[in-house]
Amino acid sequence: MPQYQAVKGTRDIFPDEAARWKFVEGMVHVLASLYGFSEIRTPVFEYTELFQRGIGSTTDIVGKEMFSFLPDPKGRSLTLRPEMTAGVMRAALQNNLLSSAPVHKLYYIGELFRKERPQAGRQRQFSQFGAELLGVSSPAAVAEVITLMMQVFESLDLHGLKLRINSLGDTDDRIRYREALQGYFSPFRDILDDSSKERLEKNPLRILDSKNPALQELIAGAPRLYDYLNDASLQDFEKVLFYLRERGIAYEIDYRLVRGLDYYCNTAFEVTSSELGAQDAIGGGGRYDGLARELGSSADVPAVGFAVGMERLLMTMEKQGLFAALDSRAPLVYVVVQQQDLFDHGMQIAWQLRHAGIKTEIDLAARSMKAQMREANKINASFALFIGSMEQTTGFYSLKNLITSEQTLLSLEAVLELLQESAAKEPLKL
Ligand code: AMP
Repeated sequence: MPQYQAVKGTRDIFPDEAARWKFVEGMVHVLASLYGFSEIRTPVFEYTELFQRGIGSTTDIVGKEMFSFLPDPKGRSLTLRPEMTAGVMRAALQNNLLSSAPVHKLYYIGELFRKERPQAGRQRQFSQFGAELLGVSSPAAVAEVITLMMQVFESLDLHGLKLRINSLGDTDDRIRYREALQGYFSPFRDILDDSSKERLEKNPLRILDSKNPALQELIAGAPRLYDYLNDASLQDFEKVLFYLRERGIAYEIDYRLVRGLDYYCNTAFEVTSSELGAQDAIGGGGRYDGLARELGSSADVPAVGFAVGMERLLMTMEKQGLFAALDSRAPLVYVVVQQQDLFDHGMQIAWQLRHAGIKTEIDLAARSMKAQMREANKINASFALFIGSMEQTTGFYSLKNLITSEQTLLSLEAVLELLQESAAKEPLKL
């Protein structure tokens, strides 16, 4: 066993898999831009208090999953970001973004860190892409972020995903609901587990999030938040659903879907994949108008966003066989050097091809011609360009189409022209 192993809950991504990541990330960049979202990149670590305030101290994330450290004995505690929203809101407030324009549409792709027990689909370092729409959180804005998320899934050809949606109402709705929940759970205090007991006082909505099998029946009988929504909240929710129906986005109302933090309001949603086991959530989001105030802003900032887990998205795509086309991507031309004293000439030609935008491979290990041809076939190169003494002296090169086996003798200019034409049909794939 090698002396050093990757840390538990982290993993290496090798080139074949990295190609898949780039493909998905490319789709995210293109679609986010189509919807008018611009990329934001925030630091990987922040002051610990940001997450304590921004995620909430009763959550598992803050309670037990943060990687926190002291930069020096006198310094303030820092934490590797366990989610993106708090950092994005901090950046927006710190830089007065909303005074420059009333609405900001931001998206991100980045690594997150949570000290969870690693298992399939759950890592200690993982990635998310997501979007945050700041400055307006009307039903149209909510529908905009959900639609963007669903269009990413659709463009990647994913199927079998389920969008569940609910409304958490406004602050007054939730105050009344909180009391109703406390009234419901209090007589059962003795059968609640420790964390639910604690939540009963501080934040009874979070009991509904409990995964404890022993509590599921009790939770199933709890009052529904939906029954405590006032007319304005109901209308707001109906309008979001209307937009989704208009766009042919299938959803299921899930009255048990809650985000147990005070600053979440109105619409909340989650997407699950039947392809994943116990950890079946691919992404989720909702409105969080109260977060800015929690982070020290003098007023609420209307906001709505979503986050999707990259690893789980990729796992689902893999299970659905959506990478088959990607896996066969290969260099367009393989420069085959017939004699090793012509290697430098071959390198020069390869450079010229690459400089002309043609994807080119050459054997840097100076193996035999047979080995080079084997490699060219193995990596599915479309052409082999031969470099022999004849080619060097005459300036005419043998170009073999490895699919049709047709071989032609061409000047370098003609080779470049033909390959460029061919490359235009098959654009450079990263
Ligand atoms: P959350 O921020 O907890 O709502 O998570 C949003 C999405 O991130 C989830 O639906 C998952 O796809 C993904 N995710 C969350 N935690 C992890 C983890 N520990 N490992 C891998 N993916 C995760």
